[in-house]
Amino acid sequence: MSKAFLIDTSRCIACKACQVACKQWNDLPAERTINVGSHQNPQDLSAVTWTLVRMNEIEDGGKLKWLFFKDQCRHCVEPPCLIASAVPGSVYKDEDTGAVIYTERSKYENFDDIGCPYNIPRQDKNTGQMVKCTMCVDRIKNGLLPACVKACPAGAMSFGDRGEMQTLAKDRLEAAKSTHKDAFLVDDMEDVSVFYLLTEKEELYGMVRNDVGESVFA
Ligand code: SF4
Ligand code: SF4
Repeated sequence: MSKAFLIDTSRCIACKACQVACKQWNDLPAERTINVGSHQNPQDLSAVTWTLVRMNEIEDGGKLKWLFFKDQCRHCVEPPCLIASAVPGSVYKDEDTGAVIYTERSKYENFDDIGCPYNIPRQDKNTGQMVKCTMCVDRIKNGLLPACVKACPAGAMSFGDRGEMQTLAKDRLEAAKSTHKDAFLVDDMEDVSVFYLLTEKEELYGMVRNDVGESVFA
């Protein structure tokens, strides 16, 4: 049965346990980072950072407020990256889970363009391969939660059957609206497998709505 994530940003505390867990499970090394005057670290996704908490500072009623967004592959239902892959077998969608998987054939030159509206895949400069979040299919096919979900100490991430996550997302939205009047669910839940609950308007996170209604970082 297709699986999905719910990421409830109203619960995220930006501890980055998800970032660390992803690296640990996938054997991805740390990378050198620099301080640019904020807590954003690292600055962006990379071939060895498949998920990260994006941090935005806003002013709210004269006070500083942090907004957090755990970025990762959305495991699109009809993946634009799969459609853009020019070499068969570069990208496939796992029938059981809905996970979008890149194989060793997913070299940069094997795509017409990368096609991802969310700017997720990155190229491994050593192998030429495009890489990204795998949904931890190796874990979930063995009855485990994705490593990032398992590691979250704040209950910000849930993972399970797609229909259950859609129901949970709607329930959480109703609850969040009592304290955050602008709370909403990003993207159409029929299009993606990662459902985000935001507490503020998307532009405050640095996102814009593109021509087909996807919320992407500007
Ligand atoms: S599902 Fe697995 S691969 Fe994807 S971000 Fe989470 S830990 Fe990383
Ligand atoms: S988010 Fe990007 S990389 Fe992930 S499935 Fe969708 S198009 Fe592909």
